[in-house]
Amino acid sequence: MNELSMRGSRIGALSLENDLHVVPAQRQTLQYVCSAGHSTIVPFSIEAEDIPHTWGCRCGREGQATGTLEKMASTEIKEERYVRSHWDMLLERRTIADLEVLLSERLALLRAHEIPELKTA
Ligand SMILES: [Zn+2]
Repeated sequence: MNELSMRGSRIGALSLENDLHVVPAQRQTLQYVCSAGHSTIVPFSIEAEDIPHTWGCRCGREGQATGTLEKMASTEIKEERYVRSHWDMLLERRTIADLEVLLSERLALLRAHEIPELKTA
């Protein structure tokens, strides 16, 4: 049989590709040592960002990085991202005085039965 013909495949078959031209991603390693002296070497992609300063050791302790890489995570605790509420967004568009006017207009219309009352439930 011709070597180039497609060979049969089955579920769970191994890939027929070989790694002849596969170039592994560039890596950098960082060593972490825990308080019991265990060393863990962790490979990171060259493109990795926010590389952690600590790494969980196999003994359960926290290992500290023995060196630094270019893209280490910031040591400052990041401020929790402030989430704007609907009220905050409203206040960006209108002043309290504007809102007072709108409210009184709407209340007047509501009391005069010009607009239907909101149905609750
Ligand atoms: Zn350890």
